[in-house]
Amino acid sequence: SAAVTRSSPKLSPSDFLFGRTLGEGAFARVVHARYKSSPAGKPRDYAVKIMEKRHIKKEDKVKYVMMEKKLLSSFESELIIRLHVSFQDSDYLYMVMDLCPGGELLAVIRNFRDNERQTACSLPVTQYYMGSVIKGLEYLHSRNIIHRDLKPENVLLLSSGHVKIGDFGTALDLRPQSSSSGQRRNSFVGTAEYVSPEVLRNEDAGIGVDLWAVGCMVFQMGVGRPPFQAANEFGMFQAIIDHAEGKSTLQYPPALSGHPQNFIGCMLKDQPDTRLGANDGVQEGVVDGKYMSIRGHG
Ligand code: ADP
Ligand code: MG
Repeated sequence: SAAVTRSSPKLSPSDFLFGRTLGEGAFARVVHARYKSSPAGKPRDYAVKIMEKRHIKKEDKVKYVMMEKKLLSSFESELIIRLHVSFQDSDYLYMVMDLCPGGELLAVIRNFRDNERQTACSLPVTQYYMGSVIKGLEYLHSRNIIHRDLKPENVLLLSSGHVKIGDFGTALDLRPQSSSSGQRRNSFVGTAEYVSPEVLRNEDAGIGVDLWAVGCMVFQMGVGRPPFQAANEFGMFQAIIDHAEGKSTLQYPPALSGHPQNFIGCMLKDQPDTRLGANDGVQEGVVDGKYMSIRGHG
């Protein structure tokens, strides 16, 4: 018997014991799965993303699923979920990934209360998680890949607390020769709360969309909720555009004034190429040490 690798002879669902559901997104269910015949010393527990083929066809998601598979299996970064192997049966597609038993970053934000400072996560906690996400993004962006759906639900944790970026279902390969070049860069993808003004304006997306989402997440880690909220999506989009155009300002709790507030301000800029980390080279002198090594690839 062998560990789960791409060279494993045809795997099927019967090679796994499926356990609890780890999470659910719009198009997939992710379940805990134990590989029955892993030799000692190899991982036995995986997260398997299960997608219904019928659903994929109906939603015209084939391209995205192919892209997710291709991208995920090409990454070699500790900060990004690894896809070990994929297989299918008549109805479903299975993607066997690293298991992140620590769950979503969202749960950390919900559970953490720094009562003394009246924030959700304390600054060091925010710096740790967001520093990891930014390092993961450096890896992606240096390969000209944008994630396009960064949010705390898609940032996953190991038991050790280490971070892995997941959900490449809407990632885009910007390289002209890539097989996703047929995909439109100005498609509306992502999640309303974290969507950048250029996406709302139907402009081509670049790495700036991920930087904007980082700004939203840093705010959320500190405050406990994302920066832009409204009763409905239209209101949300309006709030985002208003902020981008300088027609409104965000309210920060006192504990976030100074460095965190500056940092968020540098990320939530209207013009994508003016966001911190959007250009080549390390940008310095703006904020706190932890965040300063943002290397962009503009
Ligand atoms: P979707 O594209 O439908 O959003 P995701 O890949 O984001 O699917 O997976 C949905 C949810 O499943 C995630 O938000 C997370 O809670 C959980 N999940 C995904 N991958 C893993 C993993 N490798 N380990 C643990 N939980 C995971
Ligand atoms: Mg998701």
